[in-house]
Amino acid sequence: MATQTTDKFKKIISHAKEYGFVFLSSEIYDGLGAVYDYGPYGVELKNNIKEYWWKSMVYLHENIVGLDSAIFMHPKVWEASGHLSAFNDPLIDNKDSKKRYRADVLIEDQIEKIREKINKEVKKAKKRFGDSFDEQKFIETSQRVQKYLSQIEEITKRFVAAMENNDLKELRQIIEDYEITDPVSGSKNWTEVRQFNLMFETKLGSVSDEANSIYLRPETAQGIFVNFLNVQKTARMSLPFGIAQIGKAFRNEIVARQFIFRMREFEQMEMQFFVRPGEELKWFEYWKEKRWNWHINLGFGEEKYRFHKHDKLAHYANAAYDIEYEFPFGFKEIEGIHSRTDYDLSQHQKFSGKKIQYFDNELNKSYVPYVVETSIGLDRTFLMILSNSYTEEEIRNEKGQTESRVVMKIPPALAPVKIAVFPLVKKDGLPEKAKEIFKLLKPYVKVVYEEKDSIGRRYRRQDAIGTPYCITVDHQTLEDETVTIRDRDTMEQERIPITEVLDVVQKKTSMTELLKNLL
Ligand code: ATP
Repeated sequence: MATQTTDKFKKIISHAKEYGFVFLSSEIYDGLGAVYDYGPYGVELKNNIKEYWWKSMVYLHENIVGLDSAIFMHPKVWEASGHLSAFNDPLIDNKDSKKRYRADVLIEDQIEKIREKINKEVKKAKKRFGDSFDEQKFIETSQRVQKYLSQIEEITKRFVAAMENNDLKELRQIIEDYEITDPVSGSKNWTEVRQFNLMFETKLGSVSDEANSIYLRPETAQGIFVNFLNVQKTARMSLPFGIAQIGKAFRNEIVARQFIFRMREFEQMEMQFFVRPGEELKWFEYWKEKRWNWHINLGFGEEKYRFHKHDKLAHYANAAYDIEYEFPFGFKEIEGIHSRTDYDLSQHQKFSGKKIQYFDNELNKSYVPYVVETSIGLDRTFLMILSNSYTEEEIRNEKGQTESRVVMKIPPALAPVKIAVFPLVKKDGLPEKAKEIFKLLKPYVKVVYEEKDSIGRRYRRQDAIGTPYCITVDHQTLEDETVTIRDRDTMEQERIPITEVLDVVQKKTSMTELLKNLL
């Protein structure tokens, strides 16, 4: 990781803590690994992300309904889903640094490193040849690039085969053959690779024997599958239709070092879309596009995202793509779109002994529907928004001096606080007037009132939490019922009548407007 990006990431983490977005869990006891709490502004942002996702799914699609299933489920669920036997990560320890890694991630990172080498070669050549540069031709003819490409092909082939066959020895061998080193210490002194199940186990009731073992769900999807018939019948849904759910999931992650990117307790926003067998790939393409547009609609720029096709498909899937976002530590998965066939419903049919089928009136027959899933991490989306919004700027302050400010350019519809109301000074009846406006706005939008410190410092504080608007009540307000309204990003101020404040703020911070683009 380049130092600059590491620095930016560090700054984002400390900003998130200092301004009440994210805290270490149980911080007074020095924290708990990869578990985090969301502070006053964090919880608002999180709720707004949920609203954006929920409404885009459940309100904008008449054939999608919601569900809130329990975290605890019958243990058979995890037998049926395959999580008990196969929800494993291959882990490896470095004997010198005593650090633990996922063997698959070490190998994937190695592939990415070679890809970066190719990008560097291309960039260098582009500079050298200028306008006449033909990238495709260069890639085909450069010996060095070709050597890297065949390396990538060879590792990928061995890697995919090893993962598919659960061949831990081969994973270890790949690490040895490509001289993969510990990213922290540079050491090549590795242990063997072992399997590690990611599910947290606990006991139900007071008797601690095997039969009472239950698990904290590692994904929300299974709650949807086991409720397929309940929902289909009670909401009278016909195929194709979807069930959406937001909820906690738990994974005992081996390596959890990237703040809220990889947590042991996190939240997912998942939607399972049930379709006729044979139509799944059409719907898969449909959801790939829909979900891409949902991200692009946030305005961070298309270049910040890319699709990543899974090299290795889960045995039940027949297509899978990730949407990756460019975090300060590189392009990483934020959402998965998977065509899961009829695997889950069929497995639950088998394990429960209950028929889980849909009667298709048009075809006049019953079948187990196929499923296309979209699964996005709420916390990763949160981190994406923090990463994209964090901006350091040199500005001229109210007194005309240069100063630096940190501003969170959070999309206004998602901002934790939509507007702040300030009296210019704490006297002359200005606080009373400002509080009147504050009260007026409260039922409509998240608004805060502040009278402490200089106006400049109050602006900076709101910039730091991403508040799109600040209004200031001054002496003129008492005369003509107008206030100044300041825009977070341009810092421009305008004088408008009090009666227009709500309208301006609601329009520019409107979730409805954001959603309308997705229609
Ligand atoms: P990864 O390869 O990064 O471990 P995954 O492929 O196992 O992720 P999925 O099982 O497809 O992830 O889960 C769907 C989404 O849930 C992911 O795209 C991610 O946004 C989120 N997610 C998964 N694991 C975690 C975690 N430990 N912490 C935070 N979010 C997570």
